[in-house]
Amino acid sequence: MSLSGKYDDQNIFAKIIAGEAPAIKIFEDDAVVAFMDIFPQSPGHCLVVPKAPARNLLDLSDDVAALAITRVKAVARAVETALSPDGIIISQFNGAPAGQTVFHIHFHIIPRWENQALGRHGGGQADTVELKAQAAKIRAALT
Ligand code: 5GP
Repeated sequence: MSLSGKYDDQNIFAKIIAGEAPAIKIFEDDAVVAFMDIFPQSPGHCLVVPKAPARNLLDLSDDVAALAITRVKAVARAVETALSPDGIIISQFNGAPAGQTVFHIHFHIIPRWENQALGRHGGGQADTVELKAQAAKIRAALT
């Protein structure tokens, strides 16, 4: 899958946005939906997904990109309040060689703790009960 190309509206995040696939949601408005990553690299790993049908950041309009980063920041703040990590990675991959596996624009928010190794990207599936508990805490911390 190359960096540029046609947007595939059957990707899993398009289905989550359309309400056709389940997700453990944290936040939603007209611009974005935020939900837990089901293959988390650390506890609390979540995704902020602009609703616009764009494959990657380069395909996103400036207006939506600007709006999306404010949502990323708000969710990251809520993750900080809810889970007290020592650090937070915010990442965003464009194209398969860069590590992108779902070809709908999204931002990763990955809490980090001192002396705790980062899990593998796209590793094991997390326990749903744990994900729901983390999402509830993050949601409660959103102002
Ligand atoms: P990418 O590699 O495209 O930047 O990241 C895609 C992310 O989506 C990965 O971290 C992966 O764990 C996550 N992911 C893949 N499929 C699903 C899914 O069906 N539901 C959720 N919530 N996350 C997914």
